[in-house]
Amino acid sequence: MSYHWAVATDRGRIRTINEDSLHPLTSGRSDGPTVVLVADGMGGHIAGERASAVATQRAVEAKGSLKERVQAANLAIFEEIDQRPELAGMGTTLTLMELGEDDVVRYAHVGDSRAYLYRDGELTQITTDHTVVAEYLRRGTITPEEVATHPQRSLITRALGLQPDIEIDTGEEPVRSGDRLLLCSDGVNVMIDDGSIADSLDLDTPEEAVWDLVEKANRAGGHDNITAIVVQVD
Ligand code: MG
Repeated sequence: MSYHWAVATDRGRIRTINEDSLHPLTSGRSDGPTVVLVADGMGGHIAGERASAVATQRAVEAKGSLKERVQAANLAIFEEIDQRPELAGMGTTLTLMELGEDDVVRYAHVGDSRAYLYRDGELTQITTDHTVVAEYLRRGTITPEEVATHPQRSLITRALGLQPDIEIDTGEEPVRSGDRLLLCSDGVNVMIDDGSIADSLDLDTPEEAVWDLVEKANRAGGHDNITAIVVQVD
């Protein structure tokens, strides 16, 4: 199995800085194993930017399972706050995926960034959002139609940097030639719907797909930072 990925990140049209981080920073190809990730920082001023950057760097450098990488990234945020107490309260989402040599992708995930699988024209969200509205939806308190306009739609229930011990979702997905994967920050999926995301993923190359997503999210208002990684499985 071989993988070909493209990446894009953009400040959007409202925010003054880009608090999202990602890895890798450039397009590439590999036969695996390769780690790709998206992190969406929060905390105001430079704190959010710093949280996602610190978590990304540590997750990439750390050894061990994906879960151990996310735990290491979480602790890195606490170490950074020890050094720079003015950053207290910063946090980040982290959606980390390993493109395996064995026709399987594995992921570890905290927060409301997303991983999707696009196969045979159908888009499926692989990760579960750790948000208040996703929880309401599971309980049936609100309908899917109410999510987009719900006042608490951006309130997340889990993030790195909040507690030394965090609950991390993990899973794996078998992949086959022709599949495409998308990792993105909520600046993509809050601004454009799944049908529109699927149309972007259907374009000829991962490079076209990522930049189409950024353009559409900006055209829809660009209310948040926009980050996307599209992986093609060959
Ligand atoms: Mg965001």
